Amino acid sequence: MVAEVGTGWPGDLASRSTPVANTVDDVRRLAGSAPSVDHLSARSSVCRACPRLVTWREKVADQKRAAYTGEPYWGRPIVGFGSDRPRLLVLGLAPAAHGGNRTGRIFTGDRSGDWLMAAMHRAGFANQPTSVSADDGLDLIDARIVAAVRCAPPSNKPTPAERDTCGLWLTRELSLVASTVRVVVALGGFAWNAMFDAMRTAGYQVPPRRPRFGHCVETQAAPPTLERYAPETVSLLACYHPSQQNTFTGKLTVAMLDEVFQHAAEVIGDRRGVSQVTPAG
Ligand code: SF4
Repeated sequence: MVAEVGTGWPGDLASRSTPVANTVDDVRRLAGSAPSVDHLSARSSVCRACPRLVTWREKVADQKRAAYTGEPYWGRPIVGFGSDRPRLLVLGLAPAAHGGNRTGRIFTGDRSGDWLMAAMHRAGFANQPTSVSADDGLDLIDARIVAAVRCAPPSNKPTPAERDTCGLWLTRELSLVASTVRVVVALGGFAWNAMFDAMRTAGYQVPPRRPRFGHCVETQAAPPTLERYAPETVSLLACYHPSQQNTFTGKLTVAMLDEVFQHAAEVIGDRRGVSQVTPAG
């Protein structure tokens, strides 16, 4: 069972009249015409344009992990979460099968979310250091998190076609927040590459040669020229993904994650105070 629209799942913006994308052309049309971030989120939350991913996300939601057998699963695309006028945009790969795909919110209900939210809280971008469920009171401050691919993929590996199709939602979302975004943090190489493609399509002037992904690599982009009130430049920051593979092995440490988000806060120019919360993990 997946979460049906109109049944009151926390944060569900869709209604029974929300148009459903069943093809790539549908996504192009519905994303391109979305007048606001909320419209885009509602439309993408009912998207069915990638047959393989629709089958997978719903199968996972039906079979569940043993630890969650008594819980409902979301089983639908995971939309952006946070401010609709963010100064920080965080881009991840795709929702986890038993994390976002279960809870209905990005980076929620798994260890990756624990690491990310603790770091964002310490840097002043979140009101609490934990991300457990869609109704846990988490609020992002001047920040938004979005996935490059909105449906949980098998083995965390979307195909190039799925990446490109979902990139249409991402491109429109980047356009809708272009007037405020000052820093984009890409979590992992997949998100780093997807970010450049989507920003270029959205009208950002990105470097012609994409810098090779590496932790703390930074470059600059110019917002779409039609955005009269946008910042002059946008910092693009690369960060290792807080996956268990990276955090268990020490490839990514709490200090390394803090380095990225503290730097993002400095670029934005408002530190908002730094929490003394004990780091996750
Ligand atoms: S991955 Fe994106 S484009 Fe594909 S079905 Fe999910 S929301 Fe739609």
